[in-house]
Amino acid sequence: MAQDQATWEYAPAPEGTGHIKLNKKYNLFIDGKWVVPSSKKYFETINPATEEVLAEIAYANEKDVDLAVKAARKAYTNVWSKMHASERAKYIYRIARLMQERAREFAVIESLDAGKTIRESRDIDIPLACNHFFYYAGWADKLEYAFPNRKVESLGVAGQIIPWNFPLLMAAWKIAPALAAGNTVVLKPSETTSLTALKLAEIIEESGLPAGVVNIVTGYGDTGAAIVNHPDVNKIAFTGSTAVGKLIQKAIAGTHKKSTLELGGKSANIIFEDAPIDQAVEGIINGIFFNQGHVCCAGSRLFVQEGVADKVIRKLKQRMESLYVGDPMDKNTDIGAINSKQQLDKINKYIQIGIEEGAEMYQPSCEIPSKGYFCAPTLFLDVAQSSVISQEEIFGPVLTIQTFRTVDEVIQKANNSPYGLAAGVWTDKGSRIFNLTTKLKAGVIWANTYNKFDPTSPFGGYKESGFGREGGMHGLSAYVKLS
Ligand code: NAP
Ligand code: MG
Repeated sequence: MAQDQATWEYAPAPEGTGHIKLNKKYNLFIDGKWVVPSSKKYFETINPATEEVLAEIAYANEKDVDLAVKAARKAYTNVWSKMHASERAKYIYRIARLMQERAREFAVIESLDAGKTIRESRDIDIPLACNHFFYYAGWADKLEYAFPNRKVESLGVAGQIIPWNFPLLMAAWKIAPALAAGNTVVLKPSETTSLTALKLAEIIEESGLPAGVVNIVTGYGDTGAAIVNHPDVNKIAFTGSTAVGKLIQKAIAGTHKKSTLELGGKSANIIFEDAPIDQAVEGIINGIFFNQGHVCCAGSRLFVQEGVADKVIRKLKQRMESLYVGDPMDKNTDIGAINSKQQLDKINKYIQIGIEEGAEMYQPSCEIPSKGYFCAPTLFLDVAQSSVISQEEIFGPVLTIQTFRTVDEVIQKANNSPYGLAAGVWTDKGSRIFNLTTKLKAGVIWANTYNKFDPTSPFGGYKESGFGREGGMHGLSAYVKLS
């Protein structure tokens, strides 16, 4: 090993699982009660790092979704919309506090069910989810300050459908602003990661939130479609793939339903010659390998200015060599398990396409566990702008690299994508950052950092990355009618 490639062997540091409580079987949470699904059907959720079954999850069909929407409507009309806003705020605070108290249990369950590293679920997912509830609790009785001189009304029943990459965090992004604005909720988590949404339902029960204000229905894509197509839902909030987002948009066209769609991405991370190279390399690693690349805003396309390209690539490879791939429960692990076999197959298919397209592939010599779904961090050099791997969302730890000479060239290349979710700019020059932020077609642009989130800051995309914003005051406006 070269001298500057030194890595350290760490002793295993696995997080314990003794403190978590998981049922063997989970029913649907409707109208404040745990309800057996009308189909009597259940499906298994597994730990993608070990392929072991964690629990059985109820499958909700159209009938169950109808029950949940009816419960949400009743709770909206009779209780939640009539309650004083400061009382509603107390419930949202209580949920935040209870989640915070059980943060360690949530983190472990999230890592077991989703395959993400314990470091991420402990330090990012769960604290941020709590913070979203705290933040929106604060707004609940101050809506007239969020929208001065306007009449603010809630919408009614919100149908919310979320993906598997940040299960609890996405539930928090959806539920907290909806409740703060006075709506009631029917939420469907992804079929591979329902557990933390069900644990959240337990907390909601414990908080004493009136029955029916939040309903959690688990199931497959058709459960989501039943929410979308239900005539008594006023608003659809969806986070997931662009393909399903398009289906949803078609399904609700011509109806009264309001919608926000947070969809896919193929975000550009841009390094200029005057950038602090070591920090930039760390930011690139964080931008694409964080959460196994299962991040909608992952910095999956790297653009490096020619003068520093060799240096950046050398340092990137060196840093990749020191990444630990493996047990998500180990606190030393950098890259955990891919969420499902299906997703791993998809990533491997794209890696194969990249090789066939003639790009040069680099993977470090890391050990990959023989059981479970894992993927080595992967770099593609000499990537053509028109190649499939630089155009399509892979949603895994795969980075493409292109070089550029001028600012105009990189703006044109970065914007040459059907997506527009996020971007990163690494440079010492403030004026260049401002120039790029006005010209890059991306909803979020980070300067000299990447993948930073905060409940006060809005998040959302341009073009095929969807529309509407979540987080901050903007996130509230998606759940109110203003006149
Ligand atoms: P997905 O396949 O679109 O699924 C998202 C959710 O929709 C899941 O709960 C899914 O249920 C459900 N669903 C599937 N078909 C449906 C239909 N016809 N009608 C209604 N709901 C349906 O996406 P995913 O694979 O879970 O997540 C990855 C995608 O999410 C990526 O493209 C990523 O970029 C995007 N994402 C975007 C953001 C953002 O903020 N922009 C954030 C995170 C993720 P099942 O799981 O049961 O199929
Ligand atoms: Mg799972």
